[in-house]
Parts: sequence; structure tokens; C-alpha cells
Amino acid sequence: MMQTTRNLQTVLIANRGEIALRIMRACRNMGLKTVVVCSQADRDAAYVKSADQSVCIGPAAASKSYLNQDAILLAARLTGADAIHPGYGFLSERAGFSAATEDAGLIFIGPDATSIATMGDKIAAKSAMVAAGVPCVPGPDCELPGEVDQIRQIASKIGYPVIIKAAGGGGGRGMRVVPDEASLIEAVALTREEARKAFGSPALYMEKFLQHPRHIEIQVLCDIHGNAVWLGHRDCSMQRRHQKVVEEAPAPGISSSLIAPVGAACVQACRQIGYRGVGTFEFLFEDGAFYFIEMNTRLQVEHPVTEMTSGVDIVCQQIGIARGDVLPMAQDAIVCEGHSMECRINAEDPLTFMPSAGVITALELPSGPGVRVDTHIEVGYKVSPYYDSLIAKLIVHGPDRREAMARMRRALAGFEVEGVATTIPLLRDLFQDEAFADGETDIHYLETWLKNRSAA
Ligand code: ADP
Repeated sequence: MMQTTRNLQTVLIANRGEIALRIMRACRNMGLKTVVVCSQADRDAAYVKSADQSVCIGPAAASKSYLNQDAILLAARLTGADAIHPGYGFLSERAGFSAATEDAGLIFIGPDATSIATMGDKIAAKSAMVAAGVPCVPGPDCELPGEVDQIRQIASKIGYPVIIKAAGGGGGRGMRVVPDEASLIEAVALTREEARKAFGSPALYMEKFLQHPRHIEIQVLCDIHGNAVWLGHRDCSMQRRHQKVVEEAPAPGISSSLIAPVGAACVQACRQIGYRGVGTFEFLFEDGAFYFIEMNTRLQVEHPVTEMTSGVDIVCQQIGIARGDVLPMAQDAIVCEGHSMECRINAEDPLTFMPSAGVITALELPSGPGVRVDTHIEVGYKVSPYYDSLIAKLIVHGPDRREAMARMRRALAGFEVEGVATTIPLLRDLFQDEAFADGETDIHYLETWLKNRSAA
């Protein structure tokens, strides 16, 4: 069936910082005009001025600006924008915002409200994945009953340790690990109460707790014509408090014969649920097996490592899909080459991780073969205490992992920021670590490494 593409000339960017600039660059490549919304705290930033138009939509507090749906929709109407790109964080995974954007006659550059809502409910997401043949963590894809004996039965069938998770949970919250039956019922009651308070729903589910997994994810692109592809895999095991610190593509040591069926199942799941846009399937990987944990229905911070290996501009594709374009590539045309790594550079103390606000007084950005820096900062930029502390992403690409790491070491050595504390010194140390250099470290590795470092 031929579907006409929708008129798209101007994109409103409902986000800030590096990702706002990244989206602006994609729009410019595609010959589209840009409007960026900003808060009073961001109004003087250079990236705001580099958009074709900017609209200040409210005070610094995100709840009054970047999360203010009405103000953003009004800004779109006043500037004649045809589409809204939500970036990541803020409104990007709010089903209601996708619906409100489309109801206002605008294009939402992301999935429809139904897909966002399904994937935002972890039980619904898991059961959609089970139905599509995506491998999931052992445990029923339905809500935990209230009856104590039934709960005990489910846990002993799964086998301890188990993890109790809130269906509406997110951001690493609403989860509790249970080592044995003695603490089970109390843990369920506590998590239920937390879930009710934090997520407005007491619905819980239970699954096997994996003890030494890696975090591996698969990037997908799906158009509205039923075409879907996956762009290889990433490893984001290097985490602190469930926050990714370093990401890489491909995941080291994963053979293509092991990952190919998982990629194919992800694509199949997208077709089955009628998914549109870019998305990421997150898996835990342990002892040679993959276990789905969640799907992110948005562009991710770490998308550049996949761009570097696949050669696909994910943001341009995302915009094209929203306009109704047919995906220009078939699965067999996707060839991932070399190895890419990304370091998240945060304005934080490298020892205590306390956020560091202030004005950048000097800045030297690395460059040279295989080096990409995605950042909105420059000398004079004021790092605001109101938002996430990510100030730059340093991305490298090389023919293999060894060379990518060598490039990262060189690039980190040449990255100088003055005026605020950054995590660069920490990353420099981490890239000297031998076990990390060998690859295949699990999701607990960084926290253990940090503990040993502070003990030393
Ligand atoms: P959120 O939406 O809050 O990020 P996820 O389901 O993605 O929640 O889980 C966040 C993190 O919690 C995972 O990256 C992993 O570290 C841990 N986790 C989640 N489920 C399990 C599990 N079954 N076994 C072990 N760890 C888990």
C-alpha cells in the first residue's frame, strides 16, 4: 500500500543540551528548519541560538518548562512547526504527549501512544515479547497475585534468588531482590507499597534474579509500512547505580550466530505490535543466554556508537520514519564495521559524583582519526544545577576494540574542561583497567572497581 508522506518542513525540538544540538544537525542535513524550546536557564546558550528559532517556555525547573506539554504545543503552533522531536528523557516516553501532539495535527517523532504505553508497563511489555518469541527472564508474564501461598509457589518454581519488580517502575526504582523464602512475603508487601506510592499502581511481577549478567541491547528502526531492521548490538554493562557510563558497539565476545536470532526476534516483535520509529530492546546476558528486560521507545543517549559502526544516521532515519518515508535499507544491506565506544562526560566530582555547576572557563576538545564529540558546551557556557549533569559524549571508532580503546585513551588525554569538575579523570583511569580492556565485564564491575579505588 502506498502511503503519502506527511508534510514536514519545521521540527520543534522539545529538549535541551547535546541532544537538542544533535537533532538540529540531523534536521539541517535533511534541509529542515528547526525551532528549539528552552527554559530561562538555557536561553543564552549558544546551541539555542543556533536553531532557526527559539522559544523560551518557562522557568528553569523542568516541571515548568521541558515537561510543560501545553507550553510546548503552543510554541509549536506559534512557530508553525509541523513536528515535535522529544529527544530522550523529559516527555519522550509519555504516551499522552505522543497522543496530544498528533491530536494537535502535528507529527510526533517517536512511536504512537499505544506502543509507548504498552512498553511503559513492564508486564504488558514482557507478555508482548513472550508472544513474539523474544527470550525473557524466567518468571510469569502476569501480575503477582495477592495470595501468600500462590506467591511462594511462583517463587519456588522460578528458583531463588528472585527479583520483585513494579509493573510501572523505571529509572532503576521499584525493584527488590529476594534471596530466599524467609524474606519473600515481606519483600512483596514492601515493594507493593513503594510501587503504589511511586508509580500509582501496586501491580508487581516476579522473575529470576540473574547474578552476574551483562547489559546488551539491540537498536531497531521500523517504518510505518511494515519494514523493520536491527542495527547490531551494544554493550552498556559499565554502569553506576543503573546509570550507563561507557557504551560500546558491538558487544565484545558475542558471535553473530548467537545474536542473529535475537535481533530477528526483536524485529519480528516490532512488526507484531505495529511499532513505528526507533527503539531499543534491552537484555541481560548471562552464561550464553539473552533475557529481555525492557524496551525503550525513544532515541537513546548511546545511539552514536551504533551510528559509527553501522554508518546509519539514526536521527535522520527517525525523522524520515515519522514523516512516512520507507526505510531505505534492507536487513542484508546493514553491515557493522569496526568498534565504537562512548564515554559520558558528566559535570560531577570524579570521586564523590557530586554535581558541579558553574561557568566553563577553558575548553579543549579532542579530535583526530575516529573521534567524535557530541556536546553543546563551549567557553562561557554555564552548567546549570537544574538538569542532568551530562555535558558531552566522547565517541571513538576504530577498526577493532583495541584500537578504539587506544583512541579513547588519546582522546580523553586531550579533553580539558576548566570551571567545573568532570568525570574525565575517572574515565582516564577506567580506560587503563586491564579487565575492562579484556572485555566481557558484567554490570557490577564498575561499582566494585570504584569501591576498590576508594579503598586504595
Ligand atoms: P528500569 O526501567 O528501572 O531501568 P530495568 O528492568 O531496565 O528497570 O532494570 C534495571 C536494572 O536492574 C538492570 O539493568 C539490571 O541491572 C537490574 N535488573 C533488572 N532485572 C533483573 C534481573 N531479572 N536479574 C538481575 N538484575 C536485574
